[in-house]
Amino acid sequence: MKIRVGFGFDVHPLEEGRELWLGGVKLQAMKGAVGHSDADVLIHALCDAILGAANLGDIGTHFSNTDPRWAGMDSKYFLQEVTRMIAAKGWKIQNVDCTVTLEAPKVKPHIHAMQQALAPLMNIAPEDVSVKATTNEKLGYVGRMEGLNAYAVVLISRS
Ligand code: MG
Repeated sequence: MKIRVGFGFDVHPLEEGRELWLGGVKLQAMKGAVGHSDADVLIHALCDAILGAANLGDIGTHFSNTDPRWAGMDSKYFLQEVTRMIAAKGWKIQNVDCTVTLEAPKVKPHIHAMQQALAPLMNIAPEDVSVKATTNEKLGYVGRMEGLNAYAVVLISRS
């Protein structure tokens, strides 16, 4: 069996009056994420990790942020599509591990819902989806609530 690891990172600005989609779940928040699609930073980092593991480029390669087709798009579609792309090359996702950095709101109460939302899109079980979050200790742009980050690693295998 061949295995590969992939890593993804994403950042989006935060603004008042925008929705905050994170891990496929809409959170109640003072500020939401700004982006071409629904700006789900966690899913975007996951997509990059999956594509990176299979050496298939990055999310921008496949879903350009200047393409009007993806304006306001539900990022769950991107995750489902990248899973399909690597499956076409014989790859299966084994597990994913993600960390989000943002000052507020608290992510922990929503982790179960995120695992339930994300797992079926990647054809894995919720127990194979780890989502963690930390504040940035009020430091830098994350600390000032000007933006948020997500990091993801994924293991894929092919028999
Ligand atoms: Mg993004």
